[in-house]
Amino acid sequence: MTKILIIGAGIIGLSIAYEFSKKKRDFKIFVLEKNKKFGSGNSSQSSEVIHSGVYYKKNSLKNVLCIQWKKLIYDFCKKYKIKYSRTEKIFLACSKKEEKYLNKLRENSLNNGVKDIKIIDKKKLKIMEPDLIGRKALLSKSAGIFDAKGFMKKLFQISKKNKVKFFFNKKAIKFKMHKKKFKTDIFIDESFDYVINCAGLEAIKIANKTFPGYKFPSNYLVRGVYFKTMQKFKLRRIVYRAMIPGVIRERIDTTPFLGGGYIFGPSVEKSKTINKKKLKYKFINGIKNYLPEIDINKISYFKEGYRPKIMFKKDGNNEDFYIKKIKNYNWINLFGIESPGLTSALSIAKYVKKICSLWNY
Ligand SMILES: Cc1cc2nc3c(=O)[nH]c(=O)nc-3n(C[C@H](O)[C@H](O)[C@H](O)COP(=O)(O)OP(=O)(O)OC[C@H]3O[C@@H](n4cnc5c(N)ncnc54)[C@H](O)[C@@H]3O)c2cc1C
Repeated sequence: MTKILIIGAGIIGLSIAYEFSKKKRDFKIFVLEKNKKFGSGNSSQSSEVIHSGVYYKKNSLKNVLCIQWKKLIYDFCKKYKIKYSRTEKIFLACSKKEEKYLNKLRENSLNNGVKDIKIIDKKKLKIMEPDLIGRKALLSKSAGIFDAKGFMKKLFQISKKNKVKFFFNKKAIKFKMHKKKFKTDIFIDESFDYVINCAGLEAIKIANKTFPGYKFPSNYLVRGVYFKTMQKFKLRRIVYRAMIPGVIRERIDTTPFLGGGYIFGPSVEKSKTINKKKLKYKFINGIKNYLPEIDINKISYFKEGYRPKIMFKKDGNNEDFYIKKIKNYNWINLFGIESPGLTSALSIAKYVKKICSLWNY
């Protein structure tokens, strides 16, 4: 019997547990989670956007996993009656400079194989989204929103039914290796043939403790805050300001919220403490030039999360997911699973399955 340990019950750990347990095999699958409930990390602190893959780098994992498989997430939601909406997304140009970004986005999108996009002129934009002010936009049709918590709950229920064993309030610290198997103090009598380290913000720490001397990337965590409003607008689509693919610039996005109203953000907060009153002005300044009727008295702090960005000492900032098996060991690390991690969760699980080579494809 092959024993597999998954560290972390976020959307990635749950998707892997679901994918690995789908078909009856001679596997025993354990999931270790430090909190008392699944999905209590970053996976519950997001915009819940199903990204279409317009702006990722060609052939990057983000690009391939998001684009090829975003259909999986829509199909899963449909099959299991998880709330979702194909809202579409608008990349909005508010200045002449931003109009030029739209062409770059369009080019990048077509290069990546995302063809269901269209440039929208000012007149058409006014008809489609009368509350917005903009000069032009790029419409991305396959973007949407979904209920990430409902999605995780279903993954958990199916995995449990498929005999995956979950252990909550158990924190993985480090593992010892014995004859290529892994042991941890949490399960004194068990040793694992495979470990899949998808512990989100702590994944690098666990890898460093278990494989000292191995060169892993470092964490470069960036905090993102959301505000919310219940103010009524006619706005139906997700709104992102136009951007140059690969160039990071702080924007305040607007996303319709399935539970009602709209969420704004995430912002980029570099300091350890935040002043919510001050932040409110930053948000309003970021929103009002494209959604002028926004009322400062009707927006309030909503939530925040940490983007688990990673950095390599030599090469600097890394913009892609890091999903790798350690040479000669059945240990798989998942680092830097930032956006579009939710959108790609089911495809990441398939990718990990492939890396494990436990299945014939
Ligand atoms: C602000 C923000 C907005 C985002 N918006 C979107 C979006 O709209 N669309 C999209 O596709 N993606 C989005 N993302 C990305 C997405 O949220 C992540 O890619 C995804 O949640 C990563 O899931 P995860 O399971 O790796 O991490 P997590 O959800 O953080 O799960 C890791 C789990 O491991 C557990 N854990 C940690 N350490 C240990 C330990 N030592 N022992 C045991 N358990 C441990 C944690 O408690 C946690 O439950 C966003 C991210 C952020 C930060």
